[in-house]
Amino acid sequence: MKQLRFIFIFLFLTLSFACENKIIINESENKIVNNEPKEENKLQTPINSQPSVSSQPPFKTSEDLNNLIKAMKAVEPFFKPMSEPTADEWLANFKEDGQTFEQYAGGNPILPTPERKTLYIQPLGAFDSKQQKIIELTVEYMQKFFDLPVKRLPQKKFEEPLSPDNYRTNQFTKKRQIRAGFVLEEILQPNLPKDAAALIAFTNEDLFLDKNVRFVFGQASLKDRVAVWSLFRLDDYADFEKFLKRTLKVAVHETGHMFSFAHCTKYECVMSGTNHLGETDRHPIDVCPECMAKISWMSEYEPKKRYENLAEFCRTHNLKKDYVEFSRKAFAVGKN
Ligand SMILES: [Zn+2]
Ligand SMILES: [Zn+2]
Repeated sequence: MKQLRFIFIFLFLTLSFACENKIIINESENKIVNNEPKEENKLQTPINSQPSVSSQPPFKTSEDLNNLIKAMKAVEPFFKPMSEPTADEWLANFKEDGQTFEQYAGGNPILPTPERKTLYIQPLGAFDSKQQKIIELTVEYMQKFFDLPVKRLPQKKFEEPLSPDNYRTNQFTKKRQIRAGFVLEEILQPNLPKDAAALIAFTNEDLFLDKNVRFVFGQASLKDRVAVWSLFRLDDYADFEKFLKRTLKVAVHETGHMFSFAHCTKYECVMSGTNHLGETDRHPIDVCPECMAKISWMSEYEPKKRYENLAEFCRTHNLKKDYVEFSRKAFAVGKN
């Protein structure tokens, strides 16, 4: 056993480039909507220090590893290589190198541990029935996506009145905005369950960071394993399916960051950076072969099983194109 573990680690170390355990510390999402000016720094992940979840990478035999590499090859044709970005797109504005599976595995990533592997979802605020449904489906998708336990906590309301430091009125929407840092520090951190890999709140309220930024979609603290994401702007110009897909993308993208996934630059991938909702809409709801391998390795999740589970989700919830795509991927990796 020890020898196989050594082979596995050696293989990764030799394949790996010099890779610091880099976690995205700042990301922004621009949004062009209504009469609001173009915005910056919409999605912030600003707090970063030593990871608080760490473990040895899960053990795999060299045969497991070979099968994983075959599965990566088998699904390559389903993904578009990243194209040259236009001026308003993420990669035109942020220089990023991407992160292959080998770089990830060799970079001492944050991984779920037996003691801390549950993803907790905290609905925060008052949701309408459509938003409730979106959250319910997101919980189900995340479970099938990462093969980790996902628990939805009972809905919580903000304790009114809020302190004036923690909210303001947006001058364009005339709606209340909540300070994202307040949610992280005062609502989520004190309530982080012991077995949580991460605690992620969804709110229907608009969020802001500080006076310099008009709004943010969300904010995460990787060190403290807490994050808050707003549904407030994700349904702009969107039918139910588009609203759902945007939410699924935000949820798995940010959860990926919680486990040290960097932005993907090799393929159009749900882990690619996005500068506006148009770019988000263009990305698939799935991860590319490199990121699929990260999930499979991290959670010991067999690729065929993963694609079948995701196909089943899409079939059940009427995402027809995605159902066909996931089914074809399951078939492709099953031929190996
Ligand atoms: Zn990101
Ligand atoms: Zn990727």
